[in-house]
Amino acid sequence: KNMVVAIDGYSSCGKSTLAKALAKTLDFIYIDSGAMYRAITLYFIRNQVDLNDFKAVDDALRSIELNFHSKDYESHITLNNDEVSEEIRLMHVSDKVSEVSAIKEVRLEMVKQQQRMGRSKNIVMDGRDIGTAVFPDAQVKFFMTADPGIRAQRRHKEMQDKGETQITLEEVFDSLAHRDYADTTRVESPLVRAEDAIVLDNTDLSPKEQLDFALTMVHR
Ligand code: C5P
Repeated sequence: KNMVVAIDGYSSCGKSTLAKALAKTLDFIYIDSGAMYRAITLYFIRNQVDLNDFKAVDDALRSIELNFHSKDYESHITLNNDEVSEEIRLMHVSDKVSEVSAIKEVRLEMVKQQQRMGRSKNIVMDGRDIGTAVFPDAQVKFFMTADPGIRAQRRHKEMQDKGETQITLEEVFDSLAHRDYADTTRVESPLVRAEDAIVLDNTDLSPKEQLDFALTMVHR
């Protein structure tokens, strides 16, 4: 049987860094579920879809095709054949994604696609509901946390490095806090730790230490 490693946790906790490293080491496929919600959000922004209009949301979901392709172990996503991997990380998308991902129909569609991707392959998938809703039977589950101040610092530095220099540390902190609040309090599969998930607080851990710990758990 194929193997699924589920990694959930708060925003900017280093989930994707660990997930990528694990996938590379284990030769599994890495799937960034957050990128899917971000791409949907970008489509909704571009097409000014009214989130309260059930029919508009439904039509939009039917018009969207998402695809992943990996280059050098980096995962890239296309939205109707348009490469959007960079754009979905920008602040205007980050600030709207929690609202979009709280919509029931959006989640149903994403979960369906995610389950299909993990049906026959060995995968590492990161997100908010992977160990609870998408793959409740995943063989290994991690729940990542880290100090909110540290997370904001890491994310801020990442954005600076990418040229998003106008954003202050406070703005990044507030944006993360806002998303964590929305993600943990929404009605549809809110972010919670699965009972059988291994907690990994990486506030004081290097990427290498996290990978070593995770590998030990996978091989246990
Ligand atoms: O992981 P990332 O920060 O890119 O995810 C962006 C947003 O997408 C999250 O804040 C959350 O609102 C949503 N998301 C989700 N369920 C997932 C992955 C992401 O609701 N499995």
